[in-house]
Amino acid sequence: EYLWHLNRASAVKDEEGNIKMWVGVTTEIQKIKEEEQRKENFLKMVSHELKTPVTSIKGYVQLLLSRLKEEQGVVLNPLPLKSSLIRIDVQIVRLTKLINEILDLSRLEEDKLVLHKELFQLNELVDETVQDIIHFSSGNTINIVHDFSCNIYGDKDRIGQVIINFITNAIKYSPNNEVIEVRIQQAENDHVSVSIKDFGIGMDKKDQEKVFERFYRVEGKSENVFAGFGIGLFIADAIIKRHNGSRAVNSKKGAGSVFTFTLPCV
Ligand code: ADP
Repeated sequence: EYLWHLNRASAVKDEEGNIKMWVGVTTEIQKIKEEEQRKENFLKMVSHELKTPVTSIKGYVQLLLSRLKEEQGVVLNPLPLKSSLIRIDVQIVRLTKLINEILDLSRLEEDKLVLHKELFQLNELVDETVQDIIHFSSGNTINIVHDFSCNIYGDKDRIGQVIINFITNAIKYSPNNEVIEVRIQQAENDHVSVSIKDFGIGMDKKDQEKVFERFYRVEGKSENVFAGFGIGLFIADAIIKRHNGSRAVNSKKGAGSVFTFTLPCV
């Protein structure tokens, strides 16, 4: 097994400038190298992902324009207006998600992620978020179980963002439209836990801690078909930590995953 190392050697000289000895240091930088590589892949992916929706939007706009009679702005043929606008909207949602993730990432790197804390009811937030998700995605059934109810003092939008990330991942990585279970339970020391269980592709033990790292995506034949940037869980992890909470994943390859976050109740 080869690991990347950084070697530095520095000469120690006497008063006449003759080298007396060398002092060397060797530092293992394997992790830094791996992250550099992931960052490179990420940038490649971002440029590709930015280009795809923009090209698609441009195509639909050109199509609509070509169907309009130029001088009078009169419709020549029946315009495929609704279907084109729906496609454009889908691409804009993709673009916005990507841009927001990149913005959050740089905020986190500069430690500028500002939280607007308030008191709110967690169960209501989960219900509302699930409703929104169901509205925009069809196919999966999402069941919610409220075993416990509690209030949280935190940034409601940011906690909502974590719930959205866990649930949209559960949907994305369950390609056969399996059921998704959301469960709110009491946890130790006046905490509450929210777990999102799916019956999708799951992952090996070795990947389970790493998925919360920046740019980390599970690699493999079945995984390569899902688009993503490997930053959603990294952001979710940072948000939960800033609320003095914790998160965990329990998963089995081919059987599904349970992503859980735990927060202190008020
Ligand atoms: P991505 O945009 O790639 O989905 P995330 O940070 O949200 O980024 O997730 C990181 C990686 O964790 C994903 O690329 C995927 O490999 C894995 N992952 C996340 N959620 C699930 C899930 N519910 N089931 C299986 N794998 C998952």
